[in-house]
Amino acid sequence: KKFVYLFDQGSADMRSLLGGKGANLAEMTNIGLPVPPGMTVTTDACKEYYENGKKLPNQIIEEIRQNLAHLEKSIGKKLGDVTNPLLVSVRSGAVFSMPGMMDTILNLGLNEKTVQAVAKSTNNLVFAYDSYRRFIQMFGDVVLEIHKYEFEQILTQHKKKQGVTFDQEMSADTLRAVIDSYKELVLEKTGSIFPEDPMEQLFLSVEAVFRSWNNDRAFIYRNLNKIDHDLGTAVNIQSMVFGNMGNDCGTGVAFTRNPSNGENLLYGEYLTNAQGEDVVAGIRTPQPIAKLEAEMPAVYAQFAKTAKILEKHYKNVQDIEFTIEKGTLYILQTRNGKRTAQASIKIAHDLAAEGLITKQEALLLIEPGQLDQLLHRQIDPSAKLDIMATGLPASPGAASGIVVFDANHAEDLGKKGQKVMLVRTETTPDDIHGIIAAQGILTSRGGMTSHAAVVARGMGKPCVCGCEAVKINYHTKTFTIGDTMIKEGDLISIDGATGRVIAGVVPMKDPELSTEYLTLLNWADKYKKLEVRANADNPADAQKALEFGAKGIGLTRTEHMFMGQDRLPHVQEMILAENFEERQTALTHLLPMQEEDFYGILKVMAGYPVCIRLLDPPLHEFLPSMNELLIETTTLQITQENMTLLAQKEALLRKVRALHESNPMLGHRGCRLGITFPEIYEMQIQAICNAAARLTVEGLKVLPEIEIPLTIGSAEMNFFKEKIDTIANDTMEKYKVSFHYTSGTMIELPRAALLAGELAEAAEFFSFGTNDLTQTCLGFSRDDAEGKFLNDYLDMKLLSDNPFITLDRKGVGKLMQIAVESGRKTRPDILIGICGEHGGEARSIEFCHQIGLDFVSCSPYRVPIARLAAAQSAI
Ligand code: ADP
Ligand code: MG
Ligand code: MG
Repeated sequence: KKFVYLFDQGSADMRSLLGGKGANLAEMTNIGLPVPPGMTVTTDACKEYYENGKKLPNQIIEEIRQNLAHLEKSIGKKLGDVTNPLLVSVRSGAVFSMPGMMDTILNLGLNEKTVQAVAKSTNNLVFAYDSYRRFIQMFGDVVLEIHKYEFEQILTQHKKKQGVTFDQEMSADTLRAVIDSYKELVLEKTGSIFPEDPMEQLFLSVEAVFRSWNNDRAFIYRNLNKIDHDLGTAVNIQSMVFGNMGNDCGTGVAFTRNPSNGENLLYGEYLTNAQGEDVVAGIRTPQPIAKLEAEMPAVYAQFAKTAKILEKHYKNVQDIEFTIEKGTLYILQTRNGKRTAQASIKIAHDLAAEGLITKQEALLLIEPGQLDQLLHRQIDPSAKLDIMATGLPASPGAASGIVVFDANHAEDLGKKGQKVMLVRTETTPDDIHGIIAAQGILTSRGGMTSHAAVVARGMGKPCVCGCEAVKINYHTKTFTIGDTMIKEGDLISIDGATGRVIAGVVPMKDPELSTEYLTLLNWADKYKKLEVRANADNPADAQKALEFGAKGIGLTRTEHMFMGQDRLPHVQEMILAENFEERQTALTHLLPMQEEDFYGILKVMAGYPVCIRLLDPPLHEFLPSMNELLIETTTLQITQENMTLLAQKEALLRKVRALHESNPMLGHRGCRLGITFPEIYEMQIQAICNAAARLTVEGLKVLPEIEIPLTIGSAEMNFFKEKIDTIANDTMEKYKVSFHYTSGTMIELPRAALLAGELAEAAEFFSFGTNDLTQTCLGFSRDDAEGKFLNDYLDMKLLSDNPFITLDRKGVGKLMQIAVESGRKTRPDILIGICGEHGGEARSIEFCHQIGLDFVSCSPYRVPIARLAAAQSAI
């Protein structure tokens, strides 16, 4: 195995071995850009170092020596040479960029003798000493683990003594004194003198970079960004060039295009007479890159040209680090530039328009998740903010409103046109009306997949959750953050894209969807194979879905329609009915309301399919909770007038008791309701057919798809299919029209997936309800899993991803595959889609593409993401 590569022996595609920085240094060397020569010690060497008990094995030491000798020969300088010393930098470089997470040492090779040689050959003692003190400082920090602060303190003292403010103003004498003080500090802290031998300096530094792979910062960063802890880092040993030799020198960083808005202009900063991290460290205020044009026109021209070359070569915006030594430009690093969502769109579009990349490549340049940010209102970036706390960025967008602690109150105020912010420790399905009425939601508990987060994302409503600094007292209707107390009615704002909780109202900006954005999504539609639909329960959401480019509704839930204030009494009546007749009466009240619901959605979606799921949740969700009722009945005064009320409450309580289930998720829900109370489903089917018939009479084309939830096999499907056909035929006859409709089922139980072949005999479509299918396949109840043990599974890598966010291909995916194959065997033209939350997640969409689904369906706000992800899967 080879552990060390010279820059001219590597290339960009050797990233996993050479790290990002090393691979790109090699690539740039090979395309003839001015890169100071050097070598890369591989990530394999890093692993080897750890396996060898955190010691460099001899083979690696030997390879470094040999390659160094080669470098020395080609450069004509030698490490440690007392007349012509080579100086090098030792730079970490992981496979995935971890900006500022690991450490770099510059000017290595300096000691008391070589520093004099450098001074002599450059005729610049200040420069030589400045480089030396920097080296001791960086080596002291990275290798000897002496805190940066200790060095800074010494530096400040000496500058004060000389009476100067800036580093580059220090005289040779001051710098000499700094060096001596630094060395004393090292002796005091480590008990040994600062290493003079350049070879020793080098190997200690390489080891320190390997060690830095596991420092706290790096560890936390990797956890946050889901980077594998076992990858290891490479080390680059590179001959030094100097930006700190005088005013014809400098160092800088620049993007080939503006990373914040995508404008095609060099964007960056530089500092004259400076080295390394001075620009980012904020020691002096750097100059905008445009100024370089005036200050050093030739260098600027060369840099601008190099920037274009790199952009063309990498087919992407580059983030470049450079140094100017006595009027000569050197490139020290390049990588793909991180950018905002807005810039990402513009850049991808422009690169394709300029012919640098193809449309397909442009689509692949955009991270689907980023699109989310563009569709929501944002805080004006120039606004001054009073940030009180930061929670999890659960659902993007910004909102302001008055604090309200309960859903009913939120709904009341919302109806009066007030802007409210619902603040709760966590939310439950009972709070849904409050969430609908609120501008935004803030919770103190719960993660990115908590109820509040999921519901808010579905509605495209801003939400910050799990903000632990928020301590809520429902009793006093206040919450505190540190010493600050916020009362009900106070104004606050949240930024769901960053998790910030802000005092007062903040100025907002409406999202602007650029023409570039629309163009790119049109390109996406050309390449994608999957159709993208949206989940929508009402005409307004359906309208949004169309605006975002959905080609149909993949899931209309009917239970939300039952929750409205005008419906609930009838729904309860229906549930409480003691016999068929009573139930029938309640249902006759509900029928026209449901009919209007479906009429509205089908009308908006004229010409597009609308998949309507019949009632799914257990009935007790429509009744008050047992506790609530117990309190009400026991506190009710026993008076003559109250007798009937009491009797009613008691009847209700009996019913709630009777409906109580120990495991509602697996209880009396889905089509089991339709089995026990067929008249409920019949009413819904009738409502759909009536609406469809009326719209057909009006000349509109409707395409209802009637969906039976939670089937376990063909017997139920056959039972309902017969009802659907009878009601549809009767209705068509009655209205003297004919409309197209289909019947099908959700596949959300393993048994249904396994028996999909026979289900397809009656079902004309399948839609995977992967939320429930995940729960039932893994045997994890989502609410319990996410709060209690799922994190352990992820931490211990027993599962690679949260299966409720990213589809579990291995298990759930296998069930889906079985269902697709056997379903198509029975009915080759069966329509198959997915409507779980996975339908809006890029990696899950890729899988849906691979197994040949016809459509994915997601919340309206995720439709653009799905369109892009579907295109990316197909490219
Ligand atoms: P990071 O990964 O933190 O950006 P780098 O290894 O890129 O660390 O080093 C930081 C900076 O140090 C570079 O941007 C460059 O300015 C300077 N630097 C690194 N190596 C050299 C070198 N061989 N010659 C001159 N400057 C260097
Ligand atoms: Mg850095
Ligand atoms: Mg760098």
